[in-house]
Amino acid sequence: MAEIAQKRAQFLSPSLFHFYDRPLNIVDGKMQYLFDEDGRRYLDAFGGIATVCCGHCHPDVIEAIVNQAKKIQHSTVLYLNHAIADFAEALAAKMPGDLKVVFFTNSGTEANELALMIARLYTGSHDIISLRNGYHGNAAATMGATAQANWKFNVVQTGVHHALNPDPYRGAFGSDGEKYARDIQETIDYGTTGRVAGFISEAIQGVGGIVELAPGYLPAAYDMVRKAGGLCIADEVQAGVARTGSHFWGFEGQGVIPDIVTMAKGIGNGIPIGAVVTTPEIAKVLTRRSYFNTFGGNPVSTAAGHAVLKVLEKEKLQENAFVVGSYLKEKLNALKEKHDIIGDVRGKGLLLGVELVTDRQKKTPAKAEIAQVMNHMKDMGVLVGKGGFFGNVFRVTPPLCFSKEDSDFMIEVMDIALSKL
Ligand code: PMP
Repeated sequence: MAEIAQKRAQFLSPSLFHFYDRPLNIVDGKMQYLFDEDGRRYLDAFGGIATVCCGHCHPDVIEAIVNQAKKIQHSTVLYLNHAIADFAEALAAKMPGDLKVVFFTNSGTEANELALMIARLYTGSHDIISLRNGYHGNAAATMGATAQANWKFNVVQTGVHHALNPDPYRGAFGSDGEKYARDIQETIDYGTTGRVAGFISEAIQGVGGIVELAPGYLPAAYDMVRKAGGLCIADEVQAGVARTGSHFWGFEGQGVIPDIVTMAKGIGNGIPIGAVVTTPEIAKVLTRRSYFNTFGGNPVSTAAGHAVLKVLEKEKLQENAFVVGSYLKEKLNALKEKHDIIGDVRGKGLLLGVELVTDRQKKTPAKAEIAQVMNHMKDMGVLVGKGGFFGNVFRVTPPLCFSKEDSDFMIEVMDIALSKL
């Protein structure tokens, strides 16, 4: 382990970070469990930042990857291939309305970059509205749309506006989504020509600390954006692919149909793949020039993605996310009764957040405390994530095969770690 740490310090980016005082060297994964170099087992309640949906090294997904790799792996664009065509068809079948055309990419950033460009091309407008506290990627347009100082470098950002976040816990209007949405109209009226290219948001903010948009927000916001000529983009990189349990896509929880949907992470169960899905009419804008992406939709990644959809269905993982997620949330709420440091428990399905505060009235972020609890939980064999603008929110986003027994164990461990504070 010391050797890896030394090589990492010498040869890798100095900006790489990890969560733990003593970082783990994870060498094996099986479903919801990870194993370190000493064979010690950890319950994985973070799923590689919600990237693992079926479970680590799920046999069906591995088989699809290996079989495809043995046949052919190459660039997407040169020849016809079954894997990409079959997966696109299966993905389109998961989409509501007229969302039937799929563009594949290699990451969430690339998917959102493409979505933002499509919105600008289709509308002929430039201005994009995103939500404060949102995260959409780390390239030019997506870093612009990302609205947290933590993730923004000082690159020129033009035509991007960050609207009030409909955050039920910290926002000024509580759970009244329509009140927050008025800021969209004001942003259009006072910050743009009155015409916009689009609006991008997550349904539940992941990096931002599992913030569920206040009910009624998206329908009102979509209405205003569309009246200003803009397209509505749903970033489903974390909230999509069955994770919220009640629905397959996060936006469905707010009863809206976007014009463009982007996804990544979970759709490949750990294999790099992203996608943009839109309508045939909007998709046509990319025929104005050549749009080229060497590996976007390559045979191995799309074989993996297709296998993921089949496993979700076969193992009823959306239902499991709903049942186990509801159970776990109840238990987390019970922990909140016991520990004053828990200020808020939120989220849906297996996309849950636990915000730690040192003062419930002032909502003072418990930054040092969360690090201590996280390290202690790791020592007891449970891995959870961390996020939020202040870095004081536990992110619970396990593989969707997580069970009630796993939930009980996680709660017990969290309880002990919190009691030790
Ligand atoms: N959108 C959301 C909601 C994300 O959480 C992330 C990654 N954390 C991205 C986009 C960017 O995805 P990637 O890291 O694959 O580029």
